[in-house]
Amino acid sequence: MNRMNRLNRLMKMITVMMIICTMGAVFSIASASAQQSNKSQDSGDKPVICIEAGHQSKGNAEKEPIGPGSKTLKAKVSGGTSGIKTKKPEYKLNLEVALKLEKALKPDYKVVMVRRTNEVDLSNKERAELCNKVKADVMIRLHADGSTDRAVTGMTFFYPSANNTYTKSIAGSSREIAETVAKQVLKSTGAKSRGVKARGDLTGFNWLTVPSVLIEMGFMTNIAEDKLLSDAAYQDKIVAGIKAGLDAYDFDE
Ligand SMILES: [Zn+2]
Repeated sequence: MNRMNRLNRLMKMITVMMIICTMGAVFSIASASAQQSNKSQDSGDKPVICIEAGHQSKGNAEKEPIGPGSKTLKAKVSGGTSGIKTKKPEYKLNLEVALKLEKALKPDYKVVMVRRTNEVDLSNKERAELCNKVKADVMIRLHADGSTDRAVTGMTFFYPSANNTYTKSIAGSSREIAETVAKQVLKSTGAKSRGVKARGDLTGFNWLTVPSVLIEMGFMTNIAEDKLLSDAAYQDKIVAGIKAGLDAYDFDE
């Protein structure tokens, strides 16, 4: 009788311990999966995209160095081109696309806008420094082209040069992002490609410590392309292409 009691007590203890162990295991699995989902939802893990709409309503002819320590000076920010048919100034078009891009990227990226209005006075150096400050994974610079030859059309994708003391360290990743973005934008828009090219003369690149791509979205001096660039559906295609390019790039590398 005494022995049976002891055995019963022992069995009860074992059962209680097993329940405690099981609860512990369930709890630790639950907390691990909660941590995992928190991690994927944490905005700190999203790549930071700094969007710059080129130019502004009034250019600023004051000079600034084209790179850190440089004695070569260039205008702080130029006026840009304008639409031969639409009469739209380039700075307006650039901002239209920039604001659409911001909206499209927001769910998946942390987006920082260099400007949200045309009434700003920001030099190219200041624009670069703003994107450095937020430690952008890439600065996307939006521009449109102009030429004295009205027949010229197509898109160009510029990245900071490797043959340049200022941008040597960001040239490689910039080029990779430029190529990925170019591929998707050209696919999405059907635009003619004028290539993915390095630039060492741009103040807006030379002050950067983060990768960058400058997209010349098309020629506002060509009647057909000017009209197309102001077409809402075409702008959406440019934006979708940029997003697809960024989505395809591995920012964790
Ligand atoms: Zn421009």
